[in-house]
Amino acid sequence: MSEEKQRKTFAIISHPDAGKTTLTEKVLLLGGSIRSAGTVKGKKSGQFATSDWMDIEKQRGISVTSSVMQLEYENVQINILDTPGHQDFSEDTYRTLTAVDTAVMVIDSVKGIEAQTLKLFKVCRMRGIPILTFINKLDREGKEPLDLLAEIEETLEMDTYPMNWPIGTGKRLKGIYNLSDDTVDVFSEEAEERQIVPYSEVESLETYEREALEEDKMLLEEAGNDFSLEQIQAGEMTPVFFGSALANFGVQSFLDQFVQLAAPPKPRKASGRWISPDQQQFSGFIFKIQANMNPNHRDRIAFLRVCSGSFERGMEVTLSRTGKKMKMNQSHSFFASDRETVNRAMPGDIVGLYDSGNFQVGDTLIDRGEKIKYEEMPQFPPEQFAKVTAKNAMKHKQYHKGIEQLVQEGTIQLYKTPYFEDYILGAVGELQFQVFEHRMKQEYNVDLEFVHMSHELARWVTKGDVSDLVSDHRKMLVNDQQGRAVLLFENDFALRWFQDKNPEIELSTGWEIL
Ligand code: GDP
Repeated sequence: MSEEKQRKTFAIISHPDAGKTTLTEKVLLLGGSIRSAGTVKGKKSGQFATSDWMDIEKQRGISVTSSVMQLEYENVQINILDTPGHQDFSEDTYRTLTAVDTAVMVIDSVKGIEAQTLKLFKVCRMRGIPILTFINKLDREGKEPLDLLAEIEETLEMDTYPMNWPIGTGKRLKGIYNLSDDTVDVFSEEAEERQIVPYSEVESLETYEREALEEDKMLLEEAGNDFSLEQIQAGEMTPVFFGSALANFGVQSFLDQFVQLAAPPKPRKASGRWISPDQQQFSGFIFKIQANMNPNHRDRIAFLRVCSGSFERGMEVTLSRTGKKMKMNQSHSFFASDRETVNRAMPGDIVGLYDSGNFQVGDTLIDRGEKIKYEEMPQFPPEQFAKVTAKNAMKHKQYHKGIEQLVQEGTIQLYKTPYFEDYILGAVGELQFQVFEHRMKQEYNVDLEFVHMSHELARWVTKGDVSDLVSDHRKMLVNDQQGRAVLLFENDFALRWFQDKNPEIELSTGWEIL
């Protein structure tokens, strides 16, 4: 990895099938020195990178091993963090967003903004992560570009600024007009090479197409927002690009602008103050722990985001939480079929560390000097719940130990019912239950019994007394790990019903207080 190059670290957020994988592949192709972890996604091609994938991955044919990819483009080192979607959506998907400086939101032009994008978007907003938007599938008859902009503005409550503008869509797609330099990316189904022509020299446009474009341009000028890099980097405005990932159309224009607009590593808050990436002291935090990558070795990989200073192989680091010192001999970044050893990593880079059970999600690592701790990793509101018990009551020791360790590590969330202290597990995605079950079996030799519950909303009680509440299938009272009262509701209807009947009780979605 080059040390002097500027880093741009981002994740793509999208609803399944919007084109995240296709766009990632096209972006990787445009960059030099492609190195990727696992494959971009083995699912469709049926190719599996190496043998050291979890059993679950093999069974399901998906990549749990969420990857880190790198490319160099225009003298910038781009780190792409994959955010698992589909059924493999989990807290890791959210957590990955805490480790990036920019998010790219891919929207299907036919469907507009979809539910999963919204959830991830919320995390970006919460953390002030700048968002670049790529409206994909321009080769299909999608929604009107202006309607798509309005939808983004209304749904996500942020300003938009179109960087380019489609000339026709679907079968009538002629090109995209680049607002910044009055040029057109001319679309042609055959052309391999990208053709950029000054607008005045484009010959293929019919009069009505020119007129339509002129009209849109005028509208944008009059009613649109002014471009503001400041607002973009503060996450208040999203620059919008149109294109077709599949046709590799508009991807390069996007990447050209991406390296300009994406945020570089910014100062991050630790122990109440801002730590600049330029600071000499090395610091970083663990945002994800991947277990059992290699079933034979049962090793875990902790993903470290470097925030300041430089991380060097062999260096001694201190784990802020415990004060424990460790020598970093086995640090690896993940590439293709083998793991390439990292010698030095800079702020913005992601490093995979072998972990024998020392790390928890959210842990801070530093070298020498002042002990700092990056702000708590948020706990994300779970949407699925299950009662869990050990199949074999004789194994209660391993059972409790396993649960305690895996919860601490960040695999799944644990709640307890009052009085009886039954264990309720909470997750944002089904995959978390599967990983948890798998690891309890593999690492603690405990078979679990799950009873999935019908509840799917969690609300933290911020005011009022709920201790007398009688739990039923509509609503249930539990306590979180900090002992806070949490109500689980079956659905929106049950929640509203409860609020109507109990106006004195105040509830929070958790985002605000976690
Ligand atoms: P992901 O689930 O967001 O990663 O989406 P994929 O990249 O796997 O794409 C989902 C489907 O949409 C695949 O069949 C792609 O070939 C298709 N697709 C992706 N980009 C485009 C595009 O620009 N135009 C069209 N027509 N299809 C696309």
